[in-house]
Amino acid sequence: MKYTEIMVRYGELSTKGKNRKDFIGRLAGNVTKVLHDFPEIEIHPRHDRMHIVLNGASFSEVDQRLRKVFGIQTYSPTIKVEKTLQAIEETSLELMKETFKPGMTFKVNTRRSDHHFTYDTNELNTMVGDYLFKHMADLKVEMKHPDLTLRIEVRQDAIYISNQLLHGAGGMPVGTGGRAVMMLSGGIDSPVASYLALKRGVDIEMIHFYSPPYTTQKALNKAKELTGILANYSGRINFIAVPFAEIQETIKEKLPEGYLMTVQRRFMLRLADRIRAQRNELAIFNGESVGQVASQTLESMAAINDVTTTPVVRPVATMDKTEIIKLAEEIGTFDLSIEPFEDCCTIFAPPRPKTRPKIDKAREFEARLDVEGLIERALSGIKVTTIHPNEKFLADKAEEDAALL
Ligand code: ATP
Ligand code: MG
Repeated sequence: MKYTEIMVRYGELSTKGKNRKDFIGRLAGNVTKVLHDFPEIEIHPRHDRMHIVLNGASFSEVDQRLRKVFGIQTYSPTIKVEKTLQAIEETSLELMKETFKPGMTFKVNTRRSDHHFTYDTNELNTMVGDYLFKHMADLKVEMKHPDLTLRIEVRQDAIYISNQLLHGAGGMPVGTGGRAVMMLSGGIDSPVASYLALKRGVDIEMIHFYSPPYTTQKALNKAKELTGILANYSGRINFIAVPFAEIQETIKEKLPEGYLMTVQRRFMLRLADRIRAQRNELAIFNGESVGQVASQTLESMAAINDVTTTPVVRPVATMDKTEIIKLAEEIGTFDLSIEPFEDCCTIFAPPRPKTRPKIDKAREFEARLDVEGLIERALSGIKVTTIHPNEKFLADKAEEDAALL
């Protein structure tokens, strides 16, 4: 079926009052961005809906991109026909034949904004319904919860027909929630937290701590490739790599083992906060989940969070690991997250980190270090790259295997 346009219904708009314009403007911008390589497509954002005119572009290709754009509640591929009964009937039949399966129920739902059209909504519902009955077997009408709703919209310029209601990604358009940094490791949790931040409309930049020569290029590339998967939801994401080896070596040399982890995390959070401030962003996001490991007890969080008053948002804080994994699978980050390239935390992880570190002790031990010097040197070594949707940084596994032969 050759669809001519897509009708997009907005998410969470009802209570947003004066922010409505910003919401729609951002959404239109984000849709334009993900469809930038379809020059034939026209995007018309209106007060209540957005119309994407395909002008020959393939619906299924556009559909792949559109389902990852936050701020879209539902959307329907639609066919524009001329304003005659015959055109309505024939196209309705074609659409129904394509999507109908025996046993399904349906109804016809007509809306008119052109009140001068020859037939009113009741007449059209009945006539088109009768026509479909005549030409299709097994049809059953159901008014309350039909499996298929054939929607006919009579507008001034033409008539628009659709019979699918597809679910969009929901959430808010990326950018409407402001900008923040996201602490991204190569693990399972922080990519999921990134997805949830983007879903609330927050535009994120990734901060990743790496520790060459203790960590490999592969571990860094894994975090970049995860960013590429998440960039599908926002068009592009900046990736900020922060060298962390000197800090880890110094802490390991000078502090008691029980506080290695707490103090490392305090440095990470300080660095994240400095970078956030330099880049004019409002909050820090991370992938911590309450009680998951020693560094994520409430006592640990308190001892780590002590270094800043900036909001630290933890989207997966109260989710079970199984729930996080389920989402990771859905968004396509799980398989990459479980690749065993160790990051800087795994390598310097003490065997018995304190699960109840004390804030005073952490401060006291830290006073033995040149905190400012360490921070400055790490900041002077940061590298920023912009990562695009599905950008690859790890060699394809098949390619690698072939190279070994
Ligand atoms: P994840 O699966 O996200 O790595 P985790 O369960 O392994 O989480 P930790 O390794 O304790 O937990 O890390 C907790 C959080 O700290 C991570 O979710 C991430 O936000 C941040 N973090 C940990 N390591 C790094 C890193 N190398 N670079 C940036 N952020 C990190
Ligand atoms: Mg981790």
